[in-house]
Order: sequence, then C-alpha cells, then structure tokens
Amino acid sequence: MGTLIENYAAVVGEAVIEHLFQLAGPLQGTKILHVNSTKEGGGVAEILNRLVPLMQELGLETDWQVITGESDFYQCTKTMHNALQGKEDILSQKDRSLFESVAKENARFIEASEYDIVVIHDPQPVGLPLFADFGNSRLVWRCHIDTSSPNPIFWEYLNSFLTSYDAGIFTLKSYAKEGIPIGEIYEIAPSIDPLSNKNRDLSDVELTNAVKKLGVDIRRPIITQVSRFDPWKDPMGVVDVYRGLKKRFEGLQLLMIGSMASDDPEGWKIYEDLLRYTGMDYDVKVLSNFQGIGDIEVNASQRLSDVVIQKSLREGFALTMSEAMWKRTPVVGGNVGGIPLQVHHGVNGYLVNSIDEAIEYTGKILENPLMAEEMGNKGYEIARRAFLSTRHLYQYLQLFSDLIV
Ligand code: UDP
Repeated sequence: MGTLIENYAAVVGEAVIEHLFQLAGPLQGTKILHVNSTKEGGGVAEILNRLVPLMQELGLETDWQVITGESDFYQCTKTMHNALQGKEDILSQKDRSLFESVAKENARFIEASEYDIVVIHDPQPVGLPLFADFGNSRLVWRCHIDTSSPNPIFWEYLNSFLTSYDAGIFTLKSYAKEGIPIGEIYEIAPSIDPLSNKNRDLSDVELTNAVKKLGVDIRRPIITQVSRFDPWKDPMGVVDVYRGLKKRFEGLQLLMIGSMASDDPEGWKIYEDLLRYTGMDYDVKVLSNFQGIGDIEVNASQRLSDVVIQKSLREGFALTMSEAMWKRTPVVGGNVGGIPLQVHHGVNGYLVNSIDEAIEYTGKILENPLMAEEMGNKGYEIARRAFLSTRHLYQYLQLFSDLIV
C-alpha cells in the first residue's frame, strides 16, 4: 500500500482503502488527464489538488493541465458561468468567437491523444475537443455548477460542445437537463480531504497563530462565511445577517474570508463593495489570501466559529459546508443546489431561504450551546459518511472502469 493513501485508513477504515486498491487494480497504468481553468481558488482547484496525487498513488497515470486566457476570456466565462446558473445575459457573437479561439489556442498545448480518459472540468475548457485531437480518449465533462435552471441560450451553446463527450458528471442528476447530448450521466458529489491542511486537526500552536492572523477574540461568538467574492454567495446578505443578530448578541463577530481565483474577475469588485458595505465595524473582518489567509487559517476559522454560514443564492455544492461539518461546527446554508445534500434542517444546522430565516436560525444556534454541540457532532458524521475524498475516488474509479471496458 502507498504511503499517502494508507493514512486515510485511520479515518475511514482499512476496508475502504482495500476496496479502492481492488477497484484500481485493472486500471493500473491508465492515463488520465484532468483539465480546468485555475490551479487555485475555488472548489475545483481545491478538489484536484488532492485527488490528482491520490489517483497517481492508486496507479493511474494522472496529469492535470490548466487552460489559460487573457482577462477578457475570464470575463466571458464568468458571464457564461453566471448565465448557466440562471442569470439573464446576452451571449454576443464576440464572446462566442473569443471562447472558441481560446479553446483553439489551448488545444495546441495539450498532448491530447496520449490519454485514455480526459476529464474536462466546468465550462471554461469545454470547447477543447473541438480543436484538440483526443484520438481514442474517452471524454468526460465534469460540471461543478448548478445548471438546474440555466439561461436557455447559454445552455444551448454549451450543449453544442457536449456532443463529443462520452460521459457527464453532475453533483445532482437534476442538473443535467433533458436533451443534454451526453449518453451517460453520473451523479457524483464533490468531497473534502480530511488530511489536507484545510481539514486536518490543528495543533494548539497552529490555532493560536491562526487566531492572531484572523484577528478575532475567541472569547466572543464568531460567525463565518468562507467563499469566493461572488454575488451568488450573497456576501452582503451575510453582513445583513450579522447586523440582524448583533442587536441580540452584542459581542458577535463576523469573519468574511474570501479568496481571489485567477479565473474569476468579479472578485475584486465584490471585495471592494463588501469593504464599503461593512464600513467601520471592527467586529467584522474581511480577509483574503492577500492577507496571508491560507488553508490553515481557513481551517482554524471553521473550527473556531460558532456557526459557519454559506448563504448562497445558487450553489453547485459548497465544499465549505462539509469542511465546517468535518470540524463539528453547526452550519447554516442557503436552501439551494448542493447545500441540502449536506445540511439536514434541524439536524446538523439549518437551511434558509431568506436573510430573516438566516438571522432566526443562526440565532437559535448561538443561544443554545448544547444543541450546537450536538449539531456539530451530527455534521461530522454526515461528512465522514458521504463527503470525504475516499468516496469520491471510489466513484471516479467506477466511472473509469465503465469507460475503459
Ligand atoms: N476557499 C479558501 N479560501 C477562501 C475562500 C474559499 O480556501 O478565502 C476554499 C474553500 O475552503 C473551499 C473552496 O475554496 O474549499 C470553495 O469551494 P466551494 O465548493 O464552497 O465554492 P466554489 O468556489 O467552488 O463556488
């Protein structure tokens, strides 16, 4: 057994690890390529950073390549991302040409035909197969966003690229709307890695240092949202929730932690707006990777918070929920996308449909520490059972086995 994977046995048991090796047996030497559009920032990079080495260790020759483009490309793909999650927008001829020319340009750098299976993540690189010669590779499109009610023009445009794919992976089957031109649709939820710096146990020294960086007072209650600065994550709504609660919980602090992903040009604008919106309240901390907030600090924030919020208005999955649950912290999440998969109302936290509901239910947790502890423990169990990387790997291996026969 390899060294990295072996460590997971302590968390999920030997049997799970043995199963993984059994399933990987016939796939030894299989060449896998993952393609996405950023090395860091956001859930996709978070997942690939951990899954790729684990796949390698299981004997699959796994590579990861990132497509690149200029800022106008990322503007265009962010528009596409938003529209596929349902926002009204116009798909101009200029954007279509730009999208396709970047795919064409990137296709030149991908050694496409070398691979048995190519997994393309999200819409940004979806056009590659139009221009790259993938030979006999089996093509998989992994959709990480909530496409349950997409803008029809953008959906149709996306579908025009999907015809060359052999399989599609969606977090929920219902995201793959009728008429999608991919024969095989797999439902696979994302996962968190229990052994990564983001999720592993922290030492007292690490925690103390992180508290200093976060600038919070751990004797007073803390609520936190960790997410890219993105309108769908409703950052201003979270500030409203905090303000609604501050009247009742005087010492309350709010931590807004957000990273800038290189493929997300909206981030800076939202960040600046958020700073303006929070004003001079010193109990609100708006922090990002630019202030040295990395995995350990995010880990600590999720551990030290009384409630972790993810007040999304649309959401593919929200790794941040499972991350907090794994740390036994109760969660309050928007009742959208993949959040209800993780948050069971009244069990490990609450699902909310409005700012008022978020105020009500976050308050409920803050005023009831015993219930909060119980919810935290239940969340941990849910995350352990369903949302760890070992389960995710297992499902990928099953999919690869199906495609290779
Ligand atoms: N994240 C982070 N620092 C930040 C903001 C986000 O490390 O300042 C991480 C977060 O912990 C999670 C991922 O980025 O692992 C976000 O994934 P999620 O599925 O919640 O949302 P996405 O960004 O994919 O929409």
